[in-house]
Amino acid sequence: MSSVRCADCAEPLPLKRRLLGRKRCDTCETAHAAEQEAERQRLHREHEAAVAEYREVVGQLAPGVDLHRLARRVDAAREATPLQAEEVERLEAEALSELIELVKTDGVVSSAEDAFVAEAVKKLGLRWLPEQARGYQIAALESGFVMRDPSPAIVIKRGEVAHLHIAAERLELKVEHELRWQSAGGEVPVGQEGLRAVLEGGRGKLVETSRSMQAVDRGSLSVTSQRVVFAGTAEAQEFALGQLLGVRVFSNGLGLQIANRNEVPTFRTRPGDSQLAAATALTAAQRLVGTLPQPPAIPVPTAELGELPSLLKRSGFSEETTGPESQ
Ligand SMILES: [Zn+2]
Repeated sequence: MSSVRCADCAEPLPLKRRLLGRKRCDTCETAHAAEQEAERQRLHREHEAAVAEYREVVGQLAPGVDLHRLARRVDAAREATPLQAEEVERLEAEALSELIELVKTDGVVSSAEDAFVAEAVKKLGLRWLPEQARGYQIAALESGFVMRDPSPAIVIKRGEVAHLHIAAERLELKVEHELRWQSAGGEVPVGQEGLRAVLEGGRGKLVETSRSMQAVDRGSLSVTSQRVVFAGTAEAQEFALGQLLGVRVFSNGLGLQIANRNEVPTFRTRPGDSQLAAATALTAAQRLVGTLPQPPAIPVPTAELGELPSLLKRSGFSEETTGPESQ
């Protein structure tokens, strides 16, 4: 019977090993585990090396580099890499984040830098992660850029520009009251029913027990060059940007501080959207009243692309045959 012998060395398998359902003797089992561990480590090192090599290619993305040449390198690297598509995307997103960091180092995004980032994303076929896009848009807004909403959620007037729209819920402050009954021993809550009858007796009193913001309507919040508009399923509200004094920003909501209004219209948004909408509204308002300086027109200096990354050298990639000159 073959099953009673070790699968590796063919020595008879001790009864205990057989009963445990093992196919190898103790010695071979230890050797086998060590081999497997070595193999696992080898695969890990190979993977790390592949990641490093891919980073070397996409890491060449920097302000001012020749995007045409880099796009060809990135295309070739996508072909040559053994990495999975998701990992390639992650490394490319990382490179885009690094580019954005470099663009933001001096505190402003110039129009030339903004154009370079847009061109890089297009030429290299990169994909914005939602969080990354928001971060960049906020940085660009702080430098005076406002985006254009390609598909506005509301009717736009003549001469008005739609900047963005986000999903939003209109919130209202709800104050909960509770009736407390004055008894000799102290206050006894008796619930919310039949308030009037007890109040007329003069021995109960209404006590405010909680305040909370509750959603009363759902729809979209749009920012244009002239207005902030909430278009809900129940009602619509419009606020002129000229009346906007400030925006209160929460992680998942915002409040509009409007001149001569004794409450702050408040909206719940998706996390992250609130910051972007607030920055857009404030930038648009500043542009409307003319207090925003023009975005700086500093050119992006040309930068060296660097030598051919090792992944491409090994894969026999040649840059000379179809350089930008041969177009
Ligand atoms: Zn054995």
